[in-house]
Amino acid sequence: MNALDELSETFSHLPGIGKKSASRIASYLLKTDRAFNIRFSNQILSLQERIKPCSICGAWTENDPCPICSDIARDKSVICVVEQPQDVSTIESSREFHGLFHVLGGVISPLEGVTPDKLRISQLFDRVKSGGITEVIIATNPTVEGDTTALFIQRVLQDTGVSVTRLASGLPAGGDLEYADRLTLVRSFQGRIKI
Ligand code: ZN
Repeated sequence: MNALDELSETFSHLPGIGKKSASRIASYLLKTDRAFNIRFSNQILSLQERIKPCSICGAWTENDPCPICSDIARDKSVICVVEQPQDVSTIESSREFHGLFHVLGGVISPLEGVTPDKLRISQLFDRVKSGGITEVIIATNPTVEGDTTALFIQRVLQDTGVSVTRLASGLPAGGDLEYADRLTLVRSFQGRIKI
């Protein structure tokens, strides 16, 4: 295998990249100017050093706490609970939500060995317990695991007096938050239901 094939092979492991795209990207990098490749390599190399999870909400950030947690203009009485750090950017792009976030780091899935203690549920409980929160909006994906996780969180928080809601209408069943368009997300927030 030559260097070009090796690079193609590496790219084909990336999410959403098939063998054909992988080969096209590798060929592109071979032909492009060296400055681009140097910048690209450096960005990859420094990524894990520069980006860390926010110690409060778990979103990816270069500065801890993240810009959302440290923004005094945000509504600190509402927390939106999402599965993955990238869900924060999806919801932010809808510009419908102005509260804080909490990233779980996944959903409860006993078959895959993901038990509640592997997720950031106790940290959520601590945030709610520390006061000032009136509503927790659960924005896990509308899958069996997402629903199970939402119910589990509702049970964990039920004695705290906080209102627990779930994004409802609009999101396609089994669909992914990542692929929801802005309008769908706006409707899901407006039509959230108490669980
Ligand atoms: Zn944060």
